Amino acid sequence: MYGQDEWLSPARVQKPAYSPCLPGFLFSVGYGIMIVAGGGIIGLSCAWRLAQRGVPVTVFDAREIGAEASWAGAGMLSPGGEAESDSPFSRMAVASLAQYGDFVEELQNASGIAIDFSRCGAMEFAFTDEEALALDRRVAGQTALGICSEAAGPRRRFYPDDALVDPRDVVSALRVACAREGVTFREHEPVGEIAGDEEVLIAAGAWSSALLPAKLPHSVPVRGHLIAFDGSGLRLHHMLRQSHTYIVQRARTGRIIAGSSTEHVGFDRRIDDAITRDIHSRAARLLPALADLTPSERWNGFRPALAEGTGPVLERVEGTNIWTAYGHYRNGILLAPETARIITAMFMHDREIMEKS
Ligand SMILES: Cc1cc2nc3c(=O)[nH]c(=O)nc-3n(C[C@H](O)[C@H](O)[C@H](O)COP(=O)(O)OP(=O)(O)OC[C@H]3O[C@@H](n4cnc5c(N)ncnc54)[C@H](O)[C@@H]3O)c2cc1C
Repeated sequence: MYGQDEWLSPARVQKPAYSPCLPGFLFSVGYGIMIVAGGGIIGLSCAWRLAQRGVPVTVFDAREIGAEASWAGAGMLSPGGEAESDSPFSRMAVASLAQYGDFVEELQNASGIAIDFSRCGAMEFAFTDEEALALDRRVAGQTALGICSEAAGPRRRFYPDDALVDPRDVVSALRVACAREGVTFREHEPVGEIAGDEEVLIAAGAWSSALLPAKLPHSVPVRGHLIAFDGSGLRLHHMLRQSHTYIVQRARTGRIIAGSSTEHVGFDRRIDDAITRDIHSRAARLLPALADLTPSERWNGFRPALAEGTGPVLERVEGTNIWTAYGHYRNGILLAPETARIITAMFMHDREIMEKS
């Protein structure tokens, strides 16, 4: 059974092998402070939960807080879009979705910031017989995981529990909630390669492994584009998706967002016209009313993937006080609450054991 225990095995708890040695620019934050490298949704969620447990936290970001993948994401909270069989990822996705409503409510109360969140469900379409078979084939595995879906007509399945959140609202709220718990922020201050035994949580998304290249699974950026339509007058009752094409609507503004693409181009931020045109035409197949509209905005972001295997990498690096929370790839918005729960539980558990020994 998946749960906290899976992450708290005795093998994970070790005393640090290094003597204290902080990189120069970190001296000013002081020893005993947890340094979070990366202020995306993952770093901020962990910072918030750790600070709630009394851990002094400073979040460093190479740019502004929340300006990378967590700003770019669509915000679909859809384990059924990807999870097909039992795995640590699929169990984590289901567990994270189950706590999202409470997470959002607590965050709104803690920050005073309204978060656009709805359990709108998702309609998944198959365009070919092969896709229809693949949709049907995954039902048994998904049902066993607790992911519900129902047939909704020929070549369609409806996922009633899928939800949608605006990740930009979540990041804004996390920032305020963190500050209210005493977290301090250092923006435009990248953390360099880590050498000593300061307590650091590496949550730098696609850039993470560069902070400890010899010891960490290699993180890579997978670029994805999205396009938006404002003022369309359209009203969607749920998310629409077909394979990796999807359409969602922000409840507060009516903005429609369509995605996406999967590109291995490194950290190239240029908007690719051909790719955004392709997204528009795929989206118009799902929702023909989009065909005659012109996108009001186009953007891209770097999903934090791993060069090998699947993430996320949630662990303490052996023999150090360095923790990792990265590699959430397509699902970091979904996985944020559960990631923060696991990291906080592991960290507090280790600290307790080390204080006793
Ligand atoms: C187009 C697109 C659509 C997506 N749609 C969804 C979706 O619908 N649902 C979903 O769940 N997920 C989605 N995702 C994935 C999701 O956005 C990511 O998995 C998630 O945002 C990762 O969060 P993060 O905090 O790990 O990374 P980031 O948000 O990238 O944050 C990492 C932070 O680390 C900082 N940093 C980098 N280097 C350093 C350094 N040396 N020192 C300090 N800071 C550093 C960066 O500036 C950045 O702010 C999507 C992603 C993209 C690109």
